[in-house]
Amino acid sequence: METDLLIIGAGAAGLSAAVGAWEAGCRDILIADRRAHLGGVLEQCIHTGFHGDLTGPEYAALLSCSLRDTGVSLQLETEVLSVSQSREAVLSSRKGLERVTFSQMILASGCRERPLGALDITGARPAGVYTAGEAQEMMNLRNEDPGENILILGSGDLGMIVARRCFLRGKRVIAVLEQAETYTGMAKNYHRCMETHAIPLRAGCTVTELHGEGRLRGVTVRELDSGSEEFIPCDTLLLATGLIPEQTLVSHLGNPPWLHLAGNCNRVHDLADSAAAEGRSIGLEIGKK
Ligand SMILES: Cc1cc2nc3c(=O)[nH]c(=O)nc-3n(C[C@H](O)[C@H](O)[C@H](O)COP(=O)(O)OP(=O)(O)OC[C@H]3O[C@@H](n4cnc5c(N)ncnc54)[C@H](O)[C@@H]3O)c2cc1C
Repeated sequence: METDLLIIGAGAAGLSAAVGAWEAGCRDILIADRRAHLGGVLEQCIHTGFHGDLTGPEYAALLSCSLRDTGVSLQLETEVLSVSQSREAVLSSRKGLERVTFSQMILASGCRERPLGALDITGARPAGVYTAGEAQEMMNLRNEDPGENILILGSGDLGMIVARRCFLRGKRVIAVLEQAETYTGMAKNYHRCMETHAIPLRAGCTVTELHGEGRLRGVTVRELDSGSEEFIPCDTLLLATGLIPEQTLVSHLGNPPWLHLAGNCNRVHDLADSAAAEGRSIGLEIGKK
């Protein structure tokens, strides 16, 4: 199969890139995404605050609508396995493997969360430790609870939003722990998510050790100034310790002129509107070629 423009990822950035490229005159565009739905991470963000006061799924629906009157081809539940210097991508779906050659490519693959293995936390590896995004997916898409007595490590926007979500599901959020001197997300999220629900922020500390066999039964928390340590009982630890642009697919390619990065795989955007604007502007540029 051949296409003028291959877009990997149908999140805010990929969808907007497709619309931009179409508006600029490109008439042969294929978007591939491994998920079953359009919108990427928006699907699991059921809180309001997108594009004004929409929920994530509402914003995804709005972005998807702009594709409706275009001839952009979509392949969902399709993973892009590799991309080569010869401008060929290998796609995997229920149909099997398919090779797609393209003239231009936009990578809009989003970001991934920093996992437990990347943190300096010793001890056992019991159940009950998740990334914040995993916990968000469990609660918002599968109606499952990550646990009952929950500690959250990291006070960026994701950590604070997930703290509120756990609270609203009736869980005990013991605290949000933060190594910096104060929260690191947006002030509006601190107010809406933490202050409003009296969720404690404990700044200047970190988790150094996990305890428990089978299930987590607590963690060691160290005060970074004094070095003093305390055992805090909990059955769940959620890691909100950073997002990393997902560029694995293209890291071996260098910087060829046909490759363009948009959205969180380029740099992590706090606002979906900003990821969408970047995608749109890259799409408009490429669509003219
Ligand atoms: C918890 C959380 C809360 C947020 N809250 C807000 C908020 O209140 N307001 C706001 O404006 N913004 C918010 N944001 C930010 C905003 O959601 C993101 O910046 C934006 O949606 C990112 O869009 P993206 O297209 O770059 O990435 P994504 O939405 O992650 O899309 C990437 C897509 O690429 C696909 N993909 C990746 N690799 C492959 C592959 N190899 N093959 C096929 N498909 C692939 C993925 O399946 C995914 O669908 C929040 C983000 C998070 C995580």
